[in-house]
Amino acid sequence: MNKLWRKFYFVLVLVCLMISVAHGQDEFERVEKRIIAYLKTDADTAHNLSIKADGSWADIDYASKAETNWAPLLHLNRIKQFALQENITPTKMITALRYWLQVNPTSNNWFQNEIASPTAIGEILMLLKSSKILPPPLQDSLLVRMKQGNVEKAIGANKLDIAIHMLYRACISRDKILMDSAVNQAFMPITLNNNEGLQPDYSYRQHGPQLQIASYGQVFLTGEYKVASWLIGTSYALPAEKLKILDQYLINTYLKTIRGRYIDFNTEGRGISRNEVLDKLNITSKASKHNLLALAKQVNPNNEQILAAAEQRILQTQAPSFQVKPAHSYFYKSDYTLHTRPAYSFNVRTVSKRTIRTEAGNRENLIGKFLPDGATNIQRKGDEYFNIMPIWEWDKIPGITGRDYVVDQKTTLEWGERGVGAFIGGTTDGVYGTTVYDLNYNEVTAKKAWFFFDDEVVCLGTAINSYAKEPITTTVNQAWQKGVVKAFANDKLVEANKGFTSAAIQWVWHDSVGYYFPNKGQINLTNDEQRGSWATINANRSKNEVKGKVFKLWFNHGVDPVNQAYAYIVKPGISENEMNKVLAIKIIVNTAAMQAVAHTDLQMVQVVFYEAGSLTAEGCTITVDQPCVLLVKAIKSKNPTVSVSDPTQKLTAIRISLNLVHASITLPQGDDKGATTSFQFN
Ligand code: CA
Repeated sequence: MNKLWRKFYFVLVLVCLMISVAHGQDEFERVEKRIIAYLKTDADTAHNLSIKADGSWADIDYASKAETNWAPLLHLNRIKQFALQENITPTKMITALRYWLQVNPTSNNWFQNEIASPTAIGEILMLLKSSKILPPPLQDSLLVRMKQGNVEKAIGANKLDIAIHMLYRACISRDKILMDSAVNQAFMPITLNNNEGLQPDYSYRQHGPQLQIASYGQVFLTGEYKVASWLIGTSYALPAEKLKILDQYLINTYLKTIRGRYIDFNTEGRGISRNEVLDKLNITSKASKHNLLALAKQVNPNNEQILAAAEQRILQTQAPSFQVKPAHSYFYKSDYTLHTRPAYSFNVRTVSKRTIRTEAGNRENLIGKFLPDGATNIQRKGDEYFNIMPIWEWDKIPGITGRDYVVDQKTTLEWGERGVGAFIGGTTDGVYGTTVYDLNYNEVTAKKAWFFFDDEVVCLGTAINSYAKEPITTTVNQAWQKGVVKAFANDKLVEANKGFTSAAIQWVWHDSVGYYFPNKGQINLTNDEQRGSWATINANRSKNEVKGKVFKLWFNHGVDPVNQAYAYIVKPGISENEMNKVLAIKIIVNTAAMQAVAHTDLQMVQVVFYEAGSLTAEGCTITVDQPCVLLVKAIKSKNPTVSVSDPTQKLTAIRISLNLVHASITLPQGDDKGATTSFQFN
């Protein structure tokens, strides 16, 4: 290379370098503008309390160490509001910030010190940056004070929160290395290989292996979409493969747990005992421009249509059925079933030795100990259980089998109790499914299974045993009473509005849902007013009495049941006049070895094999050499499709025969143990 060329080359490199630095600065500016725009939507009404000459407020206890409602944080929040409204003199602002640095308030709760304080300082600095009113040494000291929390060690929402104040710091100091690290940490929870957080089956767990789709899982969603929205179109943008994961969790898990504007009570964790859960969701709030769905649309405009449909259902400008497609998911990492149809949702919560029961803690969810014992959420309009919790009888949660106490039992173990059952799982082809729950809790055992079709869900229980002194019951439903109740016994309609106890009931109809009892049983119905208070289920809430009429339908298996059984079929979206139509359902077997149901119109057979065995149904003999849950479609055709899963999550292979055709199937391993394998017989 000659001299001239070398010179040219040098200039070229220099120009490129300048462009990239300028580009980097430009990116910081873009991110900063978006964050400021985001923060500005937080503007509150002005605070008229006058600030003292030393930069403090007389009504704030700066020595407080309180764990929640920590008073000193008010100081930062007020400064933030002043910065938002630009209605304070620079001198006062500076004095107030200096006061904070001097006094350095701390709480006994790490969250206040490592997340709340540095976040508030970061927001103030972001808002004041363009005005340049802060002397650089003051800004530097505040930036040093913001260095709190161990982002690498923190998990889930905490990791994200710490990463966010790191990101503020990086923007303010134009520190590219810090920015890279903040963004990397912020997006790290968007992966499927977490112990806690998002799972390979797209469920969400927190506080150990505990189902938390709408509670912590919703905080995760909102936080990630928020940060992603700040970084759109920059070199820090959320990578495409992570965006796919996040969208999948939002659309195919989270949003499917919501019917109309009401979320499945099974997904809320201990939040089931809070009355403001729905408002807290803040997923479509018009007041907030940065609600979850708005952020998700911004981050991925390709989902505009599907998210707009969800928004219309939630805002109730469209019916709960609007653009709802038939879908079925079984979450083998969290023991949860989601079954959605245009006409209804029917979801089931169970627990196994691999997972943890719904937690109590912070004085919340005080009597929810039986929630995971097969709770079924049956929704049509969506509001069937909305705020019914304070007046529920908590040992008759819809779907569960358990002891019927006179007084609801308090949870004694906080933060979730490990399950014990080994045979818990579900098979699905994405539209239909079978779920099994081998119940063993509180001295009650039962083999419970659910068989999901298009218009019906068949619920079977068998091997119900207990030596407890209370009667053992299985609850079919306990929901708000709406309109008349109809019942049919001895082939004629019977008066049902006042409730009954009967061994002859064939069906009950209420609120557009039919309940069939093909094998009858000791069935009880009440339509009485029930009373309670939020304080009974959550000690932080009001003791005021809440009351209302409740439709409650259950089987009484009696005291000391020995190998008792039940069968009922739920048909949501049916009128009273259609109730006497013959169903296309055949309950083939309901024993401790096997539970099986055929749907003759769908040509489908669903079987729970508790042990290796054989079953003949719809002209087909199905044989398996291992316990499993099996779903056979097009069973009368030459090429039936079989879907199979292993509820023990221990097997590696299974041999299945349909009539005389055999297939050896390798079952999913590793993170996918318990997942379904589908294949076609030739
Ligand atoms: Ca009771």
